Amino acid sequence: MMIKENQSLLTFNTFGIDVNARHFSEVFSPGDLKEVFESHPSASHPHLVLGGGSNILFTSDFPGLVIKVSLKGIEVVEENEREVLVKAAAGEDWDQFVSYCVLHGWGGLENLSQIPGQVGSSPIQNIGAYGAELKDCFESLEAWGKSSGQIRQFSAEACRFGYRDSIFKREARGKYVILSVSFRLGKKSHKLKLGYGAIQAEFQNRGISQPTIADVREVICSLRRSKLPDPHVTGNAGSFFKNPVVEQSVFELLKAEYPGLVAFPDKGGMKLAAGWLIEKAGWKGFREGDAGVHPRQALVLVNYGNANGLEIAALSEKIKDSVRKMFGVELETEVNII
Ligand SMILES: Cc1cc2nc3c(=O)[nH]c(=O)nc-3n(C[C@H](O)[C@H](O)[C@H](O)COP(=O)(O)OP(=O)(O)OC[C@H]3O[C@@H](n4cnc5c(N)ncnc54)[C@H](O)[C@@H]3O)c2cc1C
Repeated sequence: MMIKENQSLLTFNTFGIDVNARHFSEVFSPGDLKEVFESHPSASHPHLVLGGGSNILFTSDFPGLVIKVSLKGIEVVEENEREVLVKAAAGEDWDQFVSYCVLHGWGGLENLSQIPGQVGSSPIQNIGAYGAELKDCFESLEAWGKSSGQIRQFSAEACRFGYRDSIFKREARGKYVILSVSFRLGKKSHKLKLGYGAIQAEFQNRGISQPTIADVREVICSLRRSKLPDPHVTGNAGSFFKNPVVEQSVFELLKAEYPGLVAFPDKGGMKLAAGWLIEKAGWKGFREGDAGVHPRQALVLVNYGNANGLEIAALSEKIKDSVRKMFGVELETEVNII
């Protein structure tokens, strides 16, 4: 277990922000974690646990210790004819894990194909896409308590999953390092989630009437490639903002004024498409220096090369202000600004 000094984080975040960590360590086992925390107690050093860096915006050098989680391994815990319980270590690449499950014919994660990042971060914001969320197949996770030094198991209930939300973004924020996540996946009995309009349209175009799990993955990967910027080419962290949920009455007033407003029912209220609000407020394709709003997807802020985190954060604030002024709606940031 090595601790490096003044490590550049440029290749450790998908926004491509060039900052340094005062100290940096890559951990491969719970034993490494224990050692690193003992040598750098959080009372004297701020800590940041890092996965794939695809949901983070660095606005300055990090003054403490960055712990890059690299625990590996995929294990079948239980299996019968109908389903499988599979456990993946936190440092596994999320999409490689999804691909592994799809190749084995295990269904449940295929709609979450091609989301960047690692398995260990996936429960933190209950990743979701194309009509599915991580919580739909989640069984449990193991996490290392920073203050107790003990490993604790969290059930789905204990994780308190919500829309891009969990206990790890609230009461338990920064208190645990997730070590592994277990999923209960379907075999023959698995029911595909095909309700999302774009998936249906794509299957129609391709003339596929009885899609398999692998077909769903293939269609979603292709849809994502056509809609989202590749972080290897243009720095970004996916959706910068969450879709705001408003009361039905607020939605009706807005809909009367803006008939094109895109929204979906959500727990008694309406979830508004933040991308639509941002586009309508005139930001789609906006660029100032190297910080910008993606020309095809207004929810995605981008770094065209040399923007720094403060410039991107400042742009996000301008967007929030203008959406608030135009629609009276508050946008909440999804990306972790550090
Ligand atoms: C092009 C693109 C598309 C995206 N599309 C989607 C999408 O469709 N749906 C979606 O939900 N998200 C999406 N995202 C966001 C991102 O991929 C997910 O949030 C992902 O789960 C982040 O994983 P990560 O390993 O990169 O996390 P990081 O960015 O490294 O970390 C995110 C947070 O988790 C914490 N953390 C990381 N690992 C651990 C751990 N082991 N234990 C405790 N805390 C930890 C970090 O401290 C930080 O607070 C997208 C991002 C990009 C760049």
